[in-house]
Amino acid sequence: MKILLADDDRVALLYLQDALRDWGYEVVLAHDGATALAILQGPDAPVLAVIDWMMPGMDGTDICRRLRAGKAAHYTYVLMLTARTETSCIVEAMNAGADDFVSKPFNIEEIQVRIKAGRRILELEHELRHRATHDVLTGLHNRGAIIGILENELARHARDKRPVAVVFGDLDHFKRINDGFGHQAGDEVLRVVARRIDAMLRPYDAVRRYGGEE
Ligand SMILES: [Mg+2]
Repeated sequence: MKILLADDDRVALLYLQDALRDWGYEVVLAHDGATALAILQGPDAPVLAVIDWMMPGMDGTDICRRLRAGKAAHYTYVLMLTARTETSCIVEAMNAGADDFVSKPFNIEEIQVRIKAGRRILELEHELRHRATHDVLTGLHNRGAIIGILENELARHARDKRPVAVVFGDLDHFKRINDGFGHQAGDEVLRVVARRIDAMLRPYDAVRRYGGEE
C-alpha cells in the first residue's frame, strides 16, 4: 500500500519514511502542502496520507478541505500530525476533513496503529463501494452502475456524435441447466459466462447481468 508523507520538517519526514518502509509500505514524500495536494489529486494517488498541519504555504487543513471538496475517484484517509493538542485544534482538523489526529512529538507505535486503523476503514470503504456497484453473483456491474455508464456514453455521443452500441444477450435453454444440475451449477455457469464475456471486452466497454440468464 502506498502512503503519502507530507512534512516541512525533513528530519521527521525521514524518520517516518524509514518506519513506514520497515512496516512494508511504499512511501511518497512531499516537503510542502502544494506538492502534497498535487500528489493526492494526481494519477495513481496514495489512498492514505500522513500530513503535518503546520507547513509553509498550504497547511494540512487546507489540503483536507480541498481534497474533500474535489470529486475524487477514491477516498483519501488523512492522518494529521501537529504540535497543537488543544481540543479546539482537534475539532478544527476533523472539521476540515482529517480522519484522525496524532500530536507531535509522536510515538512511532501510535502512528503504526493509527495507520492500521486507517487501513481497516479504507478496506471497508473499498468493499462497500464494490458491493454498491457490482452484482454479487458474477462480479459484473449492477443496474445502478451500468445505467450511470450508459448515461455517460450517451452524453459523450451527444457531443461527438459517435455511435453507442448496446448488446443484449441471452443464454438459451438456461433453465435446463438449473433443472438438470441444480441452481448452484446454474450460478457457476453464469459466473463462467460473465468471466468470459468480461475477458473479451475492451477496457472502455462495460457489462452487467440483466435478468436471470441475460
Ligand atoms: Mg511543520
